[in-house]
Amino acid sequence: MCRHLAYLGPAVTLHELLVEPEHGLYRQSWEPRRQRHGTVNADGFGVGWYAPGDLVPARYRRDRPIWGDPNLLDLARVIRSGAVLAAVRSGTEGMGFAEAAAAPFASGRWLFSHNGAVPGWPGSLHGLAAALPPETLTRLEAPTDSALLWAHARHRLAAGVPLPVALSETVAKALADAPGARLNLLATDGTTIVATVRGDTLSWRRATPAGVVVASEPTDDGPGWHDVPDDSLLVATADGVTVTSLALTAEVS
Ligand code: GLN
Repeated sequence: MCRHLAYLGPAVTLHELLVEPEHGLYRQSWEPRRQRHGTVNADGFGVGWYAPGDLVPARYRRDRPIWGDPNLLDLARVIRSGAVLAAVRSGTEGMGFAEAAAAPFASGRWLFSHNGAVPGWPGSLHGLAAALPPETLTRLEAPTDSALLWAHARHRLAAGVPLPVALSETVAKALADAPGARLNLLATDGTTIVATVRGDTLSWRRATPAGVVVASEPTDDGPGWHDVPDDSLLVATADGVTVTSLALTAEVS
């Protein structure tokens, strides 16, 4: 299982957001405290961020441990953003280890990450795969469950479905195929963060002086962290956070 994090609020440097917190995402790559599956997250990492005046985020991804990348700390020192999604990866056995398998996945203004695993992948996701056009299936970004889940969510977004619905539908569809799937999804369009909780941990906190952080686990031992229960859907903007039950039994197309 990976660890992931999203932030919305006043512009901060990637260093302030990811590296400086005592148990931040950087450290979670070798010393996560709440991860339920796997021990280190050394199979790649990625950061996506939005720059002022541009709706399409930039990404920096590598196929190596975040601590082994000499460029990241230098970039993190000077890149500032008010909307970020980042992840450190522990690749599921049998899934690819290339840079393209590292979250965040992207399309247009969206960024996406998956913390979890789908048992029996790829065969188990037959219903979800059947909902996608063949050309989408042959153009998956990486040979991973995450890439297929993202292809489904993206397909629903392209049909005009709002982000929270696209992620809920993807979880429901995947669970109908593979009931034991672990599906902590995280996505943003730069103004809203949406996360699902199914099988692993998630917490959120209001950022200081404003904004919000949503993360697989708290990035420090300070006050204000809220743990999100399993089978939840979280929607956060810079102004507020709502947590509702995931509609797992909903009819999905
Ligand atoms: N199954 C996904 C992958 O292999 C996510 C892994 C994870 O959450 N550790 O990339």
